[in-house]
Amino acid sequence: MDRDLEAAFRHVEELLFGGPSRPGLTLYDLQRLVGYPAKGKEPYVHTLPALPGVQAVRLYYYPEDPELELIVEIVDREGKQHLRHFRWNGVTWETPKGKKGELKATAVPQGPLRVGEDYFLGFAPEEAVALEAALRRGEALGLKYLLCPRCRTRIFYAYSVNLQGLACPTCGNPTLLFKTLAGEERKDPLEALAEEQRRLRLALEELLAYLKRKLGP
Ligand SMILES: [Zn+2]
Repeated sequence: MDRDLEAAFRHVEELLFGGPSRPGLTLYDLQRLVGYPAKGKEPYVHTLPALPGVQAVRLYYYPEDPELELIVEIVDREGKQHLRHFRWNGVTWETPKGKKGELKATAVPQGPLRVGEDYFLGFAPEEAVALEAALRRGEALGLKYLLCPRCRTRIFYAYSVNLQGLACPTCGNPTLLFKTLAGEERKDPLEALAEEQRRLRLALEELLAYLKRKLGP
């Protein structure tokens, strides 16, 4: 686990919720920090003084959104964003329903995670789910993955992952192929079906035309 990232999260936690030496940040404090309403337009953002081992820590304020008023952004040393969401409930900061508010470094599981028909290595579960959805929408072109030539299992991996000694999580085959996601890789099943039907109809029309020519009207 990244120590500096953990420390940055602890720093933000103390800032928001207070610690032994100081009270927590109120909505009013946040508004003053980001220059609301004096600044007059978004983004209302405040960058905290530099912390060791992370690139930036920023607080974003959204005055228009009653459900989500504060986003904490921590950019780690690799440039990866960690976002946490909060809402002011009149007394303290709470996490809006369905959002991520836990002030801890994102835990990345060691082994490959299965989402849908594919595996994801080196991604947090929510990232893997988002990636899988992007794959299904055909929006993840250029993404790198390993393909098992034996069982066609795909393993998408993060840049930081050490792939040495990795075997197929489905069949155990240790010889995996490096691939890059191209356009035609895997279509939406419905789209594939429609295309198949178009092809069949065309073949049928050609056959009918051929028969007409051969047999006469
Ligand atoms: Zn396999």
